[in-house]
Amino acid sequence: NYAARSVYKLKEMDKRFKLFKPGQTVLDLGAAPGSWTQFAGERVGKTGHVLGVDIQETKHSFPENITFLQADVFSDAPELLEAMEPLRPFDLIISDMAPKTTGIKFADQANSLELCERAFEVALKYLKTGGHFTVKIFESGDTKDFRDALRPYFGKIKNFKPYSSRSESKEIFIVALGFKGADG
Ligand code: SAM
Repeated sequence: NYAARSVYKLKEMDKRFKLFKPGQTVLDLGAAPGSWTQFAGERVGKTGHVLGVDIQETKHSFPENITFLQADVFSDAPELLEAMEPLRPFDLIISDMAPKTTGIKFADQANSLELCERAFEVALKYLKTGGHFTVKIFESGDTKDFRDALRPYFGKIKNFKPYSSRSESKEIFIVALGFKGADG
């Protein structure tokens, strides 16, 4: 069994976009408590590897093809860079990062966008050419601009709202397929 119900969102996204293949290296941003990391680990198998990163720790223990690291994605913590180095370039970077919600809609949206922009920066640096990038965003008036910023770097960009994402939730996933490299 999985550490969280959010695993269903990733399962749906994988079913729709065929994100995973055995042997891949995957970077999972905002990974605690770990359900996405677990699922990714199963999908890439023993020949693959998943690095899960979260500012929070997890009590969950993972099999050998998974590394979980407690770190802030905004930090350039040496242990984060060290963990990413041997696995780069990643075949797939997935972000389910979400800010602590404040109850103030605009603040939550802005904080979510910042996490997305950071995830995109990491993708530009650490994603393999041809690789895929998926990122959760709290939808707002800025979502289109963010998607447009991704566009030159990927073959295809899609919005995805999983059935398992509560309908009142403003979260959607942007699925960016076929990375063209940091020069676009
Ligand atoms: N995908 C996870 C799972 O299935 O278990 C659930 C992720 S949860 C919805 C969002 C996560 O983003 C939280 O655990 C939060 O700590 C993390 N997060 C928020 N800001 C972060 C940051 N700056 N660096 C790393 N993780 C962050």
